[in-house]
Amino acid sequence: CGIVGVLGEHEVAPILVEALKRLEYRGYDSAGIATVNDGVLDRRRAVGKLANLSDLLVHDPLPGKSGIGHTRWATHGAPTVENAHPHRAGAVAVVHNGIVENYRELRAELSDNGIRFQTETDTETVALMTEYHMRSGLGPVEAAFKTIDQLEGAFALAFLFDGEEDLIIAARKGSPLAIGHGDGEMFVGSDAIALAPLTDRITYLEEGDRAVVTRTSLEIRTEKGELANREIRRIKLEH
Ligand code: GLU
Repeated sequence: CGIVGVLGEHEVAPILVEALKRLEYRGYDSAGIATVNDGVLDRRRAVGKLANLSDLLVHDPLPGKSGIGHTRWATHGAPTVENAHPHRAGAVAVVHNGIVENYRELRAELSDNGIRFQTETDTETVALMTEYHMRSGLGPVEAAFKTIDQLEGAFALAFLFDGEEDLIIAARKGSPLAIGHGDGEMFVGSDAIALAPLTDRITYLEEGDRAVVTRTSLEIRTEKGELANREIRRIKLEH
């Protein structure tokens, strides 16, 4: 339901939770974040209000300056911790808004290759498919792009990878996604309002766009794989 991402200069967990709070108006049943710290990908998830996630993070902190976060409104699978985002498969963590319509076919393809599932969600197939492509030799960007090409439905996605402190991949198809530009920092949000305290410089992804985001660069490609030139807008939002 709500997506945020930060490649920052500071500890990112509290920034992610704050950004998610700004998306609370959309409604949600669970929430979670993932970070990469010293190259290690890890995540924390909780059912119910963001306060539950914050409490969890007090007892079980999640260090790191790179991360993604999500508030979930369950469509496939009950609102449980296991089904909450970020979903993880090996080196990949994914947050997802919307629905992957062809997830059953993708699951069947993965099952045929001996891959097992932990959840009933459509989102888990995105993480597993990306991990599958990485195991067959693709790098994170190529693996994520190949997975995105396989997906049908209306969705927005953000990917984070083990061993990659300076990389988020974001994709938009039928569900909005904005990239925020900082000074040596970069942000992702399903609504620019989530990023308002962080930056006023926003690039809106267009339909079918997929973005390779680092702290110092933003490369956007169209669905066809062509480089896209999307403007940076200065926006005025209430803090
Ligand atoms: N379809 C996904 C799920 O049920 C994402 C739902 C959402 O947009 O929050 O987990």
